[in-house]
Amino acid sequence: MSQSIDTICVQGGYRPGNGEPRQVPIIQSTTFKYDSSEFMGKLFDLEASGYFYTRLQNPTNDNVAAKICELEGGTAAMLTSSGQAANFFAIFNIASAGDHIVACSELYGGTYNLFSVTMKRMGIEFSFLPSTCSDEELEAAFKTNTKAVFGETIANPALTVFDIERWANAAHAHGVPLIVDNTFPTPVNCRPFEWGADIVTHSTTKYMDGHGAGVGGCIVDSGKFDWNANAEKFPGLTQPDDSYHGLIYTERFGLAGAFITKATAQLMRDLGSIQSPQNAFLLNFGLESLHLRMKRHCENGQAVAEFLSAHPKIVAVKFSGLESDPYHELAKKYLPNGGCGVISFRVTGGREGAEEFMGRLKLGQIATHVADARTCVLHPANATHRQMNDAELEAAGIEPDMIRLSCGIEDAEDLIADIKQALG
Ligand SMILES: *Cc1c(COP(=O)(O)O)cnc(C)c1O
Repeated sequence: MSQSIDTICVQGGYRPGNGEPRQVPIIQSTTFKYDSSEFMGKLFDLEASGYFYTRLQNPTNDNVAAKICELEGGTAAMLTSSGQAANFFAIFNIASAGDHIVACSELYGGTYNLFSVTMKRMGIEFSFLPSTCSDEELEAAFKTNTKAVFGETIANPALTVFDIERWANAAHAHGVPLIVDNTFPTPVNCRPFEWGADIVTHSTTKYMDGHGAGVGGCIVDSGKFDWNANAEKFPGLTQPDDSYHGLIYTERFGLAGAFITKATAQLMRDLGSIQSPQNAFLLNFGLESLHLRMKRHCENGQAVAEFLSAHPKIVAVKFSGLESDPYHELAKKYLPNGGCGVISFRVTGGREGAEEFMGRLKLGQIATHVADARTCVLHPANATHRQMNDAELEAAGIEPDMIRLSCGIEDAEDLIADIKQALG
């Protein structure tokens, strides 16, 4: 990599030519004009490249996706309307009815619902394994119809650290890619491709946006996974697409472009989950300061986690930056500069104790949101993970009285003072 992450955050992606706008222009247009109908036909056949309809692609989005692509060290990327759409597209691009996915069970609640309810209804079966599973258990989870492996670098809200290399090796031994949701650390703190991941997804709604302004997602392809090596497993990429006159994605766009082109040309076309150009513009504002904010989020997270772990009213604290954390060794490997500013902990008094504590916080406000410049707090068992029973909560690494605290970029002493008074 020629430029550092910090420089890419500020200047990556959009590089204006002579006389062009310095800031990424918002192309607030659904359509694009061409001189001839013949050229339009070529666009629709994917023979010429260009924009024709914002349901599939928009220049503002592509400029911002290019920045995230550079940050992750990938070959192609696309923005989606949400993190949910990113994870759905990343899997649905290579799996369909009758297929199977191996997933780490410590997952964001929305992702768990997507997999276990909606995608299950589409005929895609998921096996969920805890991050602590043995190599034998992981190996035994694969089936002949397995098409991918999925995990979150730092699970939301369980805060377990995913052993990317181990799961990548298992995936590759079975000829399938590893998809990693890298939302929490962002590429500032971890670049999963360097550890063997093949596809990375993001909810850009979180740290990347960072200001609670726009919901969005992103998919990045490393370009490293060889779809042709097990071509029969990935017919959507290696066999003719009848909806584009028999085009074969891997042939036409190579390993660097096949995955994202198919997801754009087919899934965006049919399912229309594009991010609005206005939101992409706001997302880019967030990206410009991502490297600075991540540092502060991590510092505040560390200070608050240390304070909590020494407090008598705290039952347990999960934060991989703490030496006592079971994931500290993995964090040292994958997240040497810190992971994120999110902490999970349990207060005395069970579910009610958790609710009372949250009600007394003044700076840390109750919100569904996480990874925001402003500190926010959530009771997952009562909110995002409400649909799960206690056994499912346990598998997802969530205790019924667990609180998720997302440290913002305020002053650490102020945050600690607020928590201190709320604990009473
Ligand atoms: C929030 C989140 C998602 C879903 O993203 P949305 O933008 O809310 O759709 C997916 N994965 C992780 C890890 C998340 O934190």
